[in-house]
Amino acid sequence: MTRIIAVANQKGGVGKTTTAVNLAACLAELGSNVLLIDLDPQGNASQASGINKSTVPATIYQALTGHVPIDNAIVQTPYKNLSLVASTTDLVGAEIELAQLENRGFYLANTLRPAVSRFDWIFIDSPPSLGVLTLNAMTAAHGILAPLQCEYFALEGLSELLQTIINVKNTLNSHLNVFGVLLTMYQHTVLSRDVEADVRNHFMGKVFKTVIPRNVALSEAPSFGMPINHYSPKSTGAQAYGALAKEVLIRD
Ligand code: ATP
Ligand code: MG
Repeated sequence: MTRIIAVANQKGGVGKTTTAVNLAACLAELGSNVLLIDLDPQGNASQASGINKSTVPATIYQALTGHVPIDNAIVQTPYKNLSLVASTTDLVGAEIELAQLENRGFYLANTLRPAVSRFDWIFIDSPPSLGVLTLNAMTAAHGILAPLQCEYFALEGLSELLQTIINVKNTLNSHLNVFGVLLTMYQHTVLSRDVEADVRNHFMGKVFKTVIPRNVALSEAPSFGMPINHYSPKSTGAQAYGALAKEVLIRD
């Protein structure tokens, strides 16, 4: 059965894209057939998975707005078992266009439907807002993976995210669950340890055992268009995302 996971947190810069790309790539390396959907107009996930946005035949914007079928927008990345639907800045327009439509929450779910059964995992990289694009990601998904940066304000805004998940569950998608909370950019400091204790206390079994360390290779890899397991397989970042992939397979 396909698992569709939206990586979401309206806070910017917490590791959504890093997690979507590298978890997708590590699961692909373990043999799963994985599709990564870049649903952020910034297009960072497209670049980080080695796809030149200007050369793709079609983008998520064209698929969402009904101009092309989703299959026309799915491209094979340079990495085995890893496919991608790219995004470009024109996706900003979808945020506005979709907001005016009835059933605006269902566009991504409907767009993806013909392709879903071909993949074991579909990851959706969401933008840093709780706007209509993130709403579409939540409606299309079975689970939310929420990265939390190990810093002082980690829990800030989280109640808003959880309330949105509850609202979507009650209205648009009764199957939606919190797939897991992921601690990112962990450092061996008192602050990181305190944040971890706080988050584990708050979310209990929902927090992944695997914690992602702050690791410079993780921040370098996107500029080479390489997921971490290809860019620096021995780095602590690659080991952490590899461990997360294994944990996710067991949890599933
Ligand atoms: P946005 O909200 O803008 O979409 P995001 O939540 O997707 O941001 P990322 O783009 O994944 O966050 O990460 C923000 C920045 O931090 C990036 O420059 C990324 O390379 C860096 N980064 C993410 N995770 C780590 C890590 N574990 N170690 C070091 N750098 C990291
Ligand atoms: Mg991002």
